[in-house]
Amino acid sequence: PSTVKLITATQIATSVCNIVKELVENSLDASSTVVRVKLENSGLSKIEVTDNGSGVSKENVLKMALPHYTSKISQHQDLEALSTYGFRGEALAAICAVAKLSVTTKTAEDPVASTYTMDSNGDVVDVKPSHLSQGTLVVMTSLFWNIPVRKQYYQTPKRKKDELIKVEELLLSYGLIHPELHLSLHHDHSLIWQKNRATDFTANIRQTLGHGICSNMEFISEDEVIQMVLVVPKRTAPLDICYRNRPDRCFTFINQRPVISKDIEKLMKELYGFIRDGDQKSAVYPIFIVSLQFPGDEVDVNVEPNKTKVLMKRQGDVLELIRKRVSDILGTNLV
Ligand code: ADP
Ligand code: MG
Repeated sequence: PSTVKLITATQIATSVCNIVKELVENSLDASSTVVRVKLENSGLSKIEVTDNGSGVSKENVLKMALPHYTSKISQHQDLEALSTYGFRGEALAAICAVAKLSVTTKTAEDPVASTYTMDSNGDVVDVKPSHLSQGTLVVMTSLFWNIPVRKQYYQTPKRKKDELIKVEELLLSYGLIHPELHLSLHHDHSLIWQKNRATDFTANIRQTLGHGICSNMEFISEDEVIQMVLVVPKRTAPLDICYRNRPDRCFTFINQRPVISKDIEKLMKELYGFIRDGDQKSAVYPIFIVSLQFPGDEVDVNVEPNKTKVLMKRQGDVLELIRKRVSDILGTNLV
């Protein structure tokens, strides 16, 4: 790839975790209910994502890894009514620029599956008949083969371990917000994490987050001023079960999209710090889930390429409502 291509690609395909995120989002966008992620050597040697979704149609399959190609939006206005995770058409192209990519896919109409191999520009250079039931299998190998410094950076045992933990946390967050989904993570041929399909939102959270934690949590559903589900520790929740010293179990979702909201994290920490430590600033974060639903024109997810930063029109109302509900639970209505 050209230098410019390589520079932009390396901002999207920055890490194993980012690539897994893009591939899992593609599977979810294709309405998959079973998604399996398999990594070798913490993903540096191989990342495989298999799904049982729609498959890639014949008209898209040769273009799917070209830069800026997306089948998901066709006009600018679609951005306001966005119902898919992807829309930038950058992920597969970026992966091609920094690794080797092949895609095996079969739609309901295809009599057999085909495997497409891409070159570093995202052009299909080989097609072969293959075996797969309906869905898509994306295989990426040799990550960062052409960026030796980055490859070396990730090769240390500590970074490999950290990256694996990040992938697991990432999958946990998609698992929490998708009851219909069976999601699993294999590493070097052993199963390291999975969640099963659940009947509804609450049952899914209980089973995915674990009953130990959930029996100490309050579940609150709002649908008047703001559509929100709030899952937060009860007043009596034990510190060692429902609190963490990092915000790694602080889950915020906007329209089913896992996002990072520093403001919500800070507020929770402050509210729960008050009950635990009085006026002292607390060093721990409560485990929580905040799931918000807004009309598309009230959020902007296109702030950053990885889409984890989102702007909400009604952020002030959201924070106020969380403050009120948590204060009720904790009996600290004075705050
Ligand atoms: P985007 O998701 O922003 O459209 P990507 O580069 O991630 O861009 O994917 C490009 C296109 O490839 C998608 O628009 C979709 O048509 C197709 N695609 C990728 N992965 C899958 C999948 N798992 N199942 C079905 N189609 C897929
Ligand atoms: Mg995508």
